[in-house]
Amino acid sequence: MTFTQCSSQIALLLLLFFGQLGGMRLARLKLSPVKFGLPIRMNHWSAPDLNRIIIENNIHRSSKVKLMQTPHRVVVVGGGFGGLFAARSLKKVYVDVTLIDRRNFHLFQPLLYQVATGALSPANIAAPLRSILERQKNTRIILDEVVDFDVESREVITAEGRVPYDTLIVAAGSQQSYFGQDHWEEFAPGLKSIEDATSIRHRILYAFEAAEKEPDPVKREAWLTFVVVGAGPTGCEMAGAIAEIAHHTLKQEFRTINPADAKLIIVEAAADPLSMYPADLIAKARKSLEKRDIQVRTNTKVVDVEHDYVEVQPVDGSADPERIDCHTVIWAAGVKASPLGEMLSIQTAVPLTRGGKVEVQQDLTIPGHPEIFVVGDMAQVLNRDGKPLPGLAPVAMQQGNYVANVIRNRVNEKPVPAPFTYKDRGSMATIGRASAIAQIGRWKLSGFFAWILWLFVHIMQIVQFENRLLVLVQWSWHYLTFNRSARLITGTEEQHEKKLEEELVGRH
Ligand SMILES: Cc1cc2nc3c(=O)[nH]c(=O)nc-3n(C[C@H](O)[C@H](O)[C@H](O)COP(=O)(O)OP(=O)(O)OC[C@H]3O[C@@H](n4cnc5c(N)ncnc54)[C@H](O)[C@@H]3O)c2cc1C
Repeated sequence: MTFTQCSSQIALLLLLFFGQLGGMRLARLKLSPVKFGLPIRMNHWSAPDLNRIIIENNIHRSSKVKLMQTPHRVVVVGGGFGGLFAARSLKKVYVDVTLIDRRNFHLFQPLLYQVATGALSPANIAAPLRSILERQKNTRIILDEVVDFDVESREVITAEGRVPYDTLIVAAGSQQSYFGQDHWEEFAPGLKSIEDATSIRHRILYAFEAAEKEPDPVKREAWLTFVVVGAGPTGCEMAGAIAEIAHHTLKQEFRTINPADAKLIIVEAAADPLSMYPADLIAKARKSLEKRDIQVRTNTKVVDVEHDYVEVQPVDGSADPERIDCHTVIWAAGVKASPLGEMLSIQTAVPLTRGGKVEVQQDLTIPGHPEIFVVGDMAQVLNRDGKPLPGLAPVAMQQGNYVANVIRNRVNEKPVPAPFTYKDRGSMATIGRASAIAQIGRWKLSGFFAWILWLFVHIMQIVQFENRLLVLVQWSWHYLTFNRSARLITGTEEQHEKKLEEELVGRH
């Protein structure tokens, strides 16, 4: 690929991005369609107390005017993809929405690995919920941890009190699963939160610093060995990004070590990396990983993790466990649903899957509880082919929108929509700079064009314009210079470093 071709692809990406941005600006500037001669009436939600609002008949066709009537109370647990999209889709419905999250921001998890590898800063991929929903007058946000539910009295129990609901939407996502070996988490952190990402960033950068100071070549090699557990999209993205740091970003920066000597290993229990893709795309992904000097050990499971090694073994037990000396292990092997699913199960007897997902009905409600919806990573929903839907952002977003539609129709006394079906617009995974695979319907893409598509789709999914712009600028700069600007070891990382050093000192 020549520089001119690359530049033209970047120009195309910029064009598409600003095209979208321009379109959205029109909406943001509130340019009334009436000005363009379109017969659409604008709705104004100015007063904070919805009881005093006279709702015009274009919002509630079934009941033309609702005066002094208590709005239906919808409580949404979780401001991730499922919860936020549900709340936003309820903007013009005559309901009182309360969104509860233990964080005050919406996190764009698909780009967490870029924070973990210094390409982006945390603020680039997180947006305050209050700012996202500032114009949505029927919605309030509570910063609190949900600890349980009282299904009988229809209340959400938080760390600080109780919040009553008429309809409940639970979208609390998922967390890392260590398959019963939770003590591995200390040495093999997963990537689920901003804290995880900055902690992993610290571990990666600190490993190179420690190797630079280490006179013993065996110990130095251990510092320069990075093991990623799990060859799904997150594992491959992480490994590809660490390879780029070692081979390009840090190339000139050390005097004792050569960062390119870093050993990168992905351990995967399945037969292939990215095993959810078709065989030809898998082969391309494997080639791309190997081109980056990443060892892909498939049919291999992790049997032990400690602060200075990981032990692996063939899945079929055909060989003894092998010890890999290393200090940086990243867990990308599996997730389980939020424990709030179990709370719901205890009270409603709804069955859970092995991964703790709630087995909801096709309208995403809990059997016998039409007032409780569960969406996103917490919900077990079967596709038309009888297979469970994957834990992906578009699944959560579509489910959030669907649930809001059901609530809108119920409030407006309209027939409930058809059961939920997922519209699969394709899936993609990136392995590193200019390398990705994508499947869109029958179309299969790989290499540079798949990567450009991956960049575009991810930028467009970021919730706030400012973040889109920041990410685009950072990526363009990074693409041209290989530089990762968020490589500082500060704040919590320092505490983490101290903790890690204490751990190591204590163990030597
Ligand atoms: C590293 C990584 C990479 C990914 N890459 C991709 C990708 O490339 N493409 C893709 O489609 N998907 C990807 N995913 C998956 C995608 O992010 C999830 O499927 C999606 O976020 C699920 O949305 P959700 O609303 O169910 O949960 P989340 O988005 O996880 O939101 C859950 C929310 O609930 C809040 N919460 C949780 N528990 C409580 C509680 N007890 N009280 C109050 N609030 C609570 C959390 O703070 C959070 O805001 C990735 C995920 C990860 C972790």
